Amino acid sequence: MAQARYDEHVLIVGGGGTGGALAHDLALRGLRVTLVERGELTSGTTGRHHGLLHSGGRYAVSDRESATECIEENRILRRICPGTLETNDGLFVAVEEEDLAYLEPFVEGCAACGIPTQRLTGAEALRLEPNLNPAVLAAVRVPDATMDGWRMPLRFFATARHNGAEIRTYTAVEGLLVHDHHVSGAALRDHVTGRCGEVRADVVVNATGPWSERVAAMAGVEVPIRPSPGVLVAVRGRLCNMVLNRLHKSGDGDIIVPQRALSVVGTSSWVVDDPDELGVPEDHVERMYAEGAKLVPAVRDTPMRAAWSAARPLIGARSAGDSGRELSRTFKTFDHRETDGVEGFVTITGGKGTTLRAMAEVCADVVCRKLGIDEPCRTRETVLLPHEAYYRAAA
Ligand SMILES: Cc1cc2nc3c(=O)[nH]c(=O)nc-3n(C[C@H](O)[C@H](O)[C@H](O)COP(=O)(O)OP(=O)(O)OC[C@H]3O[C@@H](n4cnc5c(N)ncnc54)[C@H](O)[C@@H]3O)c2cc1C
Repeated sequence: MAQARYDEHVLIVGGGGTGGALAHDLALRGLRVTLVERGELTSGTTGRHHGLLHSGGRYAVSDRESATECIEENRILRRICPGTLETNDGLFVAVEEEDLAYLEPFVEGCAACGIPTQRLTGAEALRLEPNLNPAVLAAVRVPDATMDGWRMPLRFFATARHNGAEIRTYTAVEGLLVHDHHVSGAALRDHVTGRCGEVRADVVVNATGPWSERVAAMAGVEVPIRPSPGVLVAVRGRLCNMVLNRLHKSGDGDIIVPQRALSVVGTSSWVVDDPDELGVPEDHVERMYAEGAKLVPAVRDTPMRAAWSAARPLIGARSAGDSGRELSRTFKTFDHRETDGVEGFVTITGGKGTTLRAMAEVCADVVCRKLGIDEPCRTRETVLLPHEAYYRAAA
């Protein structure tokens, strides 16, 4: 286990992909790191997402900042997470005449964001994916991939732990220690033992995704987060080998991700106030079947393995819209000294599972600057330990 080179201690709240990547980045820079997660690692949104390593194609027309982040991180994760990704590529597929109107803006948007594309005829697409809707008119191939939503982030936790980070699961932050506009730690409850206690830190980072507004409120500050859930439906059987996306403006049920022996169809989008109260609306499940079948007709008659929902942490004011689709998928770090005059407290939120490493890099830069530590980020080049190492380190 690596020894911390600095005495400065950072407490990270939230054990999703973002918190895990941040723990890895800060431990690699030599800081003392403690991460607390109220449940199991990735039990928030990270462990319940689609498992699509985005090429950025989905956002290339309307959200180029996010699209560019995705393709950059897609390339880096292929390097640092060998073996955890299925490098199966993705197709954006036109199945109706009106989808064709999206073809040129899509290819142009991808080019502007640095996303490589290959145009295919309908017949070529069908040869690659025989279960596609036989009415397919055209397709564009992009470097999407399938990722394991559990094992990929676990590699960040494993490497962080190897480098000295302390990871405490089933440990919730119930309050922040705030005195004179300065956050100096947190009040914790261990859900296994029932014990309560405190932990002191030089900086506390709020990496609680859709819960960030709630944790920020513990310091008396606001972050403009809109928890925006979506429903996902896994049907039995692998109906495709590539990631299939409908070639149109982002909408319901327009992505199918092959995951092991399942096909995951998603998703929908709405906004809620409480990320613990999502539900799985029956009409959304029906819509996943109906829209998914437009891409792959066999979806219609394939038995369901599971349906679930998860909430995106989207950045936007509460009046910005009502479906969440209009909000950018990019991310933001808030140094609450600059935004609210509260020292010792930082929030990192928004983004995608695909951009976890980049989010951590930007946030770790902010944390180091606050602490006067001059250490470069090394996560772009550091190949992560395999996910099993997380358990080995625990033994
Ligand atoms: C339906 C859906 C599909 C998606 N599909 C994809 C996809 O295919 N590809 C992709 O790249 N992205 C996808 N995303 C986006 C992606 O899932 C999220 O951007 C990402 O998982 C957010 O990670 P996070 O670590 O910031 O948040 P989370 O994973 O939610 O982690 C926050 C953690 O904080 C913990 N926490 C909360 N409060 C406390 C507290 N008081 N004390 C301690 N811990 C606390 C929670 O338990 C949680 O584990 C999808 C999102 C949704 C909703």
